[in-house]
Amino acid sequence: MESNEIAGDLSKVLLTQQEIHDKIAELSRRIEADYEGENLLLVGVLKGAVMVMADLARELKLPLNMDWMAVSSYGSGTKSSGVVRILKDLDSDLTGRKVLIVEDIIDSGLTLSWLRANLESRGAASVEICALLRKPDAAKVEVDVRYVGFDIPNEFVVGYGLDYAEKYRNLRDVGVLAPHVYS
Ligand code: 5GP
Ligand code: MG
Ligand code: MG
Repeated sequence: MESNEIAGDLSKVLLTQQEIHDKIAELSRRIEADYEGENLLLVGVLKGAVMVMADLARELKLPLNMDWMAVSSYGSGTKSSGVVRILKDLDSDLTGRKVLIVEDIIDSGLTLSWLRANLESRGAASVEICALLRKPDAAKVEVDVRYVGFDIPNEFVVGYGLDYAEKYRNLRDVGVLAPHVYS
């Protein structure tokens, strides 16, 4: 476990920064092969995907653009509502673009299936999804995620961009919060 003081709030480390780094390199090789000769547009979903986006973009040996969206589907709780609001929209014109949505985690899949349909409706040539983490519930929704880093158990995780009440995003590892944090 890292020596960061807030790491004491984790009951266990699920993925170390080394494992995450290796997985992002592996995904990047697949993405490079699939988008050879293309000018890719990475769309990062704020705020959780900031770390994945930064590492993936630097790992990819492809010409690319980066843009950002902020959407909200959770309110203040930990359950997806299915209601998606755009808090910050893209700056880019998507017409004819090959778009890769970069996400931290797919849980119910509601956010991503809504987002993909939304971006497709703006005239993108293709819209694919890369998610670092996927939870079991994602299987219940018909959302095709082409690039998945890790399938994880159905626990609430934080770190590497993922928050609990806006904390823990700066942890280098991904871990499960200790019970004392909730109480
Ligand atoms: P979905 O619509 O797939 O249920 O929700 C996706 C979003 O919910 C993610 O982008 C993330 O913001 C949040 N989320 C889902 N599961 C977790 C989790 O285990 N930890 C954290 N921190 N956020 C989560
Ligand atoms: Mg997210
Ligand atoms: Mg959050």
